[in-house]
Amino acid sequence: MSRPRKVHVKSFGCQMNVYDSNRMADTLAPAGFTETARADDADLVILNTCHIREKAGDKVYSEIGRIRMLKDAAELQGRRMLIAVAGCMAQAEGEEIIRRAGAVDLVVGSQNYHRLPDLIARVQAGEQIVDTEFPVEDKFDVLAAPARDAIVKRGISAFVTVQEGCDKFCTFCVVPYTRGAEVSRAVEKIAAEVKRLAAAGVREVTLIGQNVNAYHGQGPDGRPWTLGQLLYRLADVPGIARLRYTTSHPRDMSDDLIAAHGELPALMPYVHLPVQSGSDRMLAAMNRRHTRKDYLDVIARLRAGRADLAFTSDFIVGFPGETEADFRDTLALLDEVGFACAYSFTYSPRPGTPAAEMEPQVPQAESADRLQRLQAEITRLQRAFNANLVGRTVDVLLEKPGKLPGQLVGRSPYLQTVHVMAPVALIGSVLPVTITNIGTNTLFGRLAEHTGTPALATAGA
Ligand code: SAM
Ligand code: SF4
Repeated sequence: MSRPRKVHVKSFGCQMNVYDSNRMADTLAPAGFTETARADDADLVILNTCHIREKAGDKVYSEIGRIRMLKDAAELQGRRMLIAVAGCMAQAEGEEIIRRAGAVDLVVGSQNYHRLPDLIARVQAGEQIVDTEFPVEDKFDVLAAPARDAIVKRGISAFVTVQEGCDKFCTFCVVPYTRGAEVSRAVEKIAAEVKRLAAAGVREVTLIGQNVNAYHGQGPDGRPWTLGQLLYRLADVPGIARLRYTTSHPRDMSDDLIAAHGELPALMPYVHLPVQSGSDRMLAAMNRRHTRKDYLDVIARLRAGRADLAFTSDFIVGFPGETEADFRDTLALLDEVGFACAYSFTYSPRPGTPAAEMEPQVPQAESADRLQRLQAEITRLQRAFNANLVGRTVDVLLEKPGKLPGQLVGRSPYLQTVHVMAPVALIGSVLPVTITNIGTNTLFGRLAEHTGTPALATAGA
């Protein structure tokens, strides 16, 4: 064991990066690194980056500038600070990062971070390294498992990557290039990770993947298993009260996954199903491989299996060629589905993707106007969804202390934050809470009397 050093990992972008950041810290722990929440006293700062939209890249370069100043200050104190850039931007830009930002010591791609201990040792010996080749080995076979303390510190709700990469090639998206082809982890390896999390007190697991319902990992019988089968397997892990998964593609919503929603109490009644646009013309130009009707049919099949399902989505406005009529189709789809919430973005041309070359690109002002109108509609739907819960009783997983004394913060089955007065000893419990009040993203409630009446969406805990 070498002398203790500190690593600060900052995550940008999606939940997959949050998961990867934790695994980077886990993998560096046996090499003597402890995690620090502060960049200024770190020996190693890792920026785990996102490349999905142009703004994401801009943010990283300005963060490198800030860390470089800390690095200079450390040097004046006779201390060496290393800067590593990891994740999708590292994968996409590689050497260019070091050309633009010479203070960066290491660029490591999203499939190579299991090599961090070795790469850091080489950087310390004086090399400046770019490691972005997709490796032959599977990083999950090499990554160190998290220590119990690290799991406990991260809370009772955890992410687990089950699938990476994407073969869909939507014309706007960089993911197939930055994360590579679809790869799924084997069922029993995922189950072992979930068991380890549960043994350290984790109560909720969100299975993540760029295209999570395309999951096809090897089952214990040697055959490829679907995400539905995987969920049934994980629902049996003692201690796991809640299961979720994200992000799904409408084309991969299989019958057994739909059945799981109807049959598995631990599977939360909440599905994030990005549609991007309500216009068939745009869906075709985006190469989404489904129509508006296909999408609505999937929603109907899911609702037939479980009536209280809530849906969220992602939308892009201002995709090349989008007209006002296409945009109105998107607005109409919002109302038709009645989403509980949604993420929305203006289209950002990404170098190397087919859409970046498409004409006509929509003027920025027009995209911004559409985004504003779309977001107003999303907020209206979200408020209506939340308001509908007032007076009802929902199961809440109590996660951590709130800001007020005696208050806990938890999550509803629909992922809303719920504030409730309750003793700390109840953290980790799933209890019925009657909703008394709402904010835009937050619900307020009180612990319900145990009347024996089942709460809405029982979590099976
Ligand atoms: N795999 C998911 C799917 O099938 O939609 C989403 C992955 S992506 C990380 C998350 C979201 O970012 C997408 O759903 C899309 O709305 C948005 N996005 C991706 N590329 C974009 C681009 N070039 N411009 C604007 N938004 C983009
Ligand atoms: Fe990107 Fe999702 Fe399309 Fe894959 S399915 S290319 S990750 S938007």
